[in-house]
Amino acid sequence: MTSLNAAEAVHEVSAMLAAWFEGSGTVSVRETPDPRIQAPDECLVRVAACGICGTDKRIFLALQPPGQVMGHEAAGEVVAVGDAVTTVAPGDHVAVYNLIGCGACPCCRQGRITWCAATRGSVNGGYGELLVAPERNLLRVPADLAWARACLLTDVLGTPMKAARIAPVSEGDRVVVLGCGPIGLGAVLVAVALGARVMAVDPLANRRALAARFGAEIGCDPGAADALEQVRAWTGPGADLSFDCTGAPGATLTALDCLRPGGTAMCIGANLEMSFSPWRHIISRDAKLGGSWYLHYEDFARCLALMRAGLLDPLPMVTHTVPLARIAHGFDLLINHPDECIKVLVTAEGS
Ligand SMILES: [Zn+2]
Ligand SMILES: [Zn+2]
Repeated sequence: MTSLNAAEAVHEVSAMLAAWFEGSGTVSVRETPDPRIQAPDECLVRVAACGICGTDKRIFLALQPPGQVMGHEAAGEVVAVGDAVTTVAPGDHVAVYNLIGCGACPCCRQGRITWCAATRGSVNGGYGELLVAPERNLLRVPADLAWARACLLTDVLGTPMKAARIAPVSEGDRVVVLGCGPIGLGAVLVAVALGARVMAVDPLANRRALAARFGAEIGCDPGAADALEQVRAWTGPGADLSFDCTGAPGATLTALDCLRPGGTAMCIGANLEMSFSPWRHIISRDAKLGGSWYLHYEDFARCLALMRAGLLDPLPMVTHTVPLARIAHGFDLLINHPDECIKVLVTAEGS
């Protein structure tokens, strides 16, 4: 096992390149001191690929700079480890789990980090050449797995997989997915892989087309005058399950309106507010309304297993890949060209 001294040796090299959000939709890529291993359970990771997420877009467009290197959908190679690290070694390929749990409570020991009552912030830094993360935030992937697939295993696939597990999605279920951004498309992929039949709802034709490629039986433009009739025509008595992956006000009510009596609506998109009638929307229809945030380690393992079996491949949603030096172009594509851009990855030179 490499010691802290090896980490020091890596630091002799030089400063790294990292992207800094400057506030108000500007970003600069500049030399930044290498992050350092500061605790015996930490590891240094050379980032190979990192997704740009809707959350990043919001932080990028905010007036205030975040004051740290962002990027939370990273995958890369471990290059040095602290003295107490036992589960990963230099050379290992890993996906980086964002949320830092306390590491000691029953939830953390079971890999259910989002349930930890004493979380300690998050691992960002995917928009730099190197990042430091606690050992327990590094989820190993096979060395022959493409970096692009590895970095999509956490947020993009793991988040809908956890929601599908909680719901739960069963074989033959009719599932309506509202919103076909990367997480919604991930929900389509996961539901299809679990044997469900899927209707994909999104105003953008390119997203509905990709959902169809991912196995959705039918698409629906929510702006169409007869959108709800289209949903009812396909679901008959209503959907067994619906996933709100939009974060848009009102979409959660639509997710409830799609259901058959006794059905379940899952909220994954970060919808911050809604008002509804518990009697009309839930009680009188025996409906269930659930939520799910991010993923647990078991969901990562399940996604990886399905991916290795050839049953879960998110790669077609990656419409653009940009090197770190051109990350501004990636944000421009996401913000100004949603009709041609779905998922953007930032990659290191040569990966
Ligand atoms: Zn994300
Ligand atoms: Zn904990």
